[in-house]
Amino acid sequence: MWRNWLHGQLDEIEKQGLYRRRKVVEGPQGPEVNAEGRRLVNFCSNDYLGLANHPVVAYAFRQAIGRYGAGAGAAHLVCGHTRAHHALEEELAEFTGRERALLFSTGYMANLGVISALTGRGDEVFEDRLNHASLLDAALLAGARLKRYPHCDSAALKRELDVSGGKRRLIASDGVFSMDGDLAPLPALAASAMQRGALLMIDDAHGLGVIGEGGRGSSALFGLAQDDVPVLVGTLGKAFGTFGAFVAGSADLIEFLIQRARTYVYTTALPPAVAEATRASLRLVREEPWRRDRVSFLVQRFRTGAARIGLQLLESDTPIQPVVVGDNRSAVRASEVLLAAGFLVAAIRPPTVPVGTARLRFTFTARHTEAQVDGLLEALDGLPPEISGRDRLENRSAS
Ligand code: PMP
Repeated sequence: MWRNWLHGQLDEIEKQGLYRRRKVVEGPQGPEVNAEGRRLVNFCSNDYLGLANHPVVAYAFRQAIGRYGAGAGAAHLVCGHTRAHHALEEELAEFTGRERALLFSTGYMANLGVISALTGRGDEVFEDRLNHASLLDAALLAGARLKRYPHCDSAALKRELDVSGGKRRLIASDGVFSMDGDLAPLPALAASAMQRGALLMIDDAHGLGVIGEGGRGSSALFGLAQDDVPVLVGTLGKAFGTFGAFVAGSADLIEFLIQRARTYVYTTALPPAVAEATRASLRLVREEPWRRDRVSFLVQRFRTGAARIGLQLLESDTPIQPVVVGDNRSAVRASEVLLAAGFLVAAIRPPTVPVGTARLRFTFTARHTEAQVDGLLEALDGLPPEISGRDRLENRSAS
């Protein structure tokens, strides 16, 4: 029975053009990777600053394995919380301008843990429609009432807050939207939260390290501090180039999460060597602002070139630059044609993005060359219009 059911499900996924196939990458992340038996220019990694294979980060990792071994051995509350984790938490708190920070094993787990610890039955969680899956799943797991507002529509959120009757209210939003690359209207969200006694949580997975003064993320870009954004989530597997995540906020918030966030309490701590490697990458994030300037220069070069060839991009100044194709199969076809031309670009389809907004999601890193960006533009110029998104007049993703 299960066998038939699984076959049926897989057939259905294939029929909808939603089948996902992994590519095996040989060797480290970088602007070029070896995959599918060839060398490909990589335009789909979240390693925005080019730190995932930085020699200083890799060296810190190896050294720390010498000191701490391979694994943490237990959860933080048992005996897995090492000096390496503790030091990284202190440095992340300082970096984000928060009283304290707390490490989680992944961003997905951080979001599940925070929302399910802070809210429950009778509470309301307000979320942007295009929030990352982990924020949406978290509200469902918590058993709170999930209220989704149209993308970046702070006026709609305000109206919803006015008529809400929840015991406690939490507003959760991506800082930089992972599949669109645009920014949440943080000042308006912070003002609404403050006026209506709601708690604001921002997941800045794609903003921290990349935007804002000193790479301090989307809230820093808008000049907001701990009181405006009391719950800040960051991930370490993207701009920081390693793995893991953290929550930053007041001392009380962090103490509460240590007691109550189930994805913190009931899981093994990150390998301490990952924490040490991240301390090294955090130093590079602070000390090498040219990485942010470089990636932003490349993004502008791409956007200018795209306008020249009539390619419609979404409104985004971040390293996430999507081209909405619309149809699932067309997006896959475009990605295959680019692959044949030597470019690795992911076709992003529902349910990751709303139905009818399948897209190519290009991401840029500080280590790309201008020639690689120009080469990508040339390949895009050669795509037939029906799979390039160039025939679409309205290119904004549906909310
Ligand atoms: N939040 C956002 C906005 C993300 O884009 C991602 C990863 N794609 C996550 C959370 C999850 O982070 P992690 O990969 O560390 O689980």
